[in-house]
Amino acid sequence: MALVFQEGKVSEPENLAARVLIRTYAKLHVPVKIEDVLGCYDLKLIGLGLGGDDGFLMQARPTGGVVFVNSEHHMHRQRFTAGHELYHYITGDYDERSANIFAASLLMPSIIIGEIWNDIRQRPEPRAWAVKLFAAQFGVSPEAARIRLKVSGLY
Ligand SMILES: [Zn+2]
Repeated sequence: MALVFQEGKVSEPENLAARVLIRTYAKLHVPVKIEDVLGCYDLKLIGLGLGGDDGFLMQARPTGGVVFVNSEHHMHRQRFTAGHELYHYITGDYDERSANIFAASLLMPSIIIGEIWNDIRQRPEPRAWAVKLFAAQFGVSPEAARIRLKVSGLY
């Protein structure tokens, strides 16, 4: 199907192209396939019952390893934990806050969150529901979504 540009509706073709790319990106890459992202770093993702722990990283030498996540947690939380552990792996930095910011930014890419949030906000549903829709699109918890939106100045 060809896209039809009606005169007057689109004043900035370059702007439109950018929006089309953002939508294409979203369709292709959201929710982010965290297992594949880890795979690119030679990391395997394995779910295990871990009691009270979210997960941990077991590094192999010289590279790669295994990221264990708590299989008793919600899938959205497991995804977040996987991103969190990836930060530790890539940077060697064990700062928890930085790892969380990294995980949120990885699962909710900055280039598309504004566009998707604006789309959702055009619907009549209340804001709390909008956050749930947004979270579902990115495969994250509503809490993680709300924080990401807030930090990004969207919420
Ligand atoms: Zn950590």
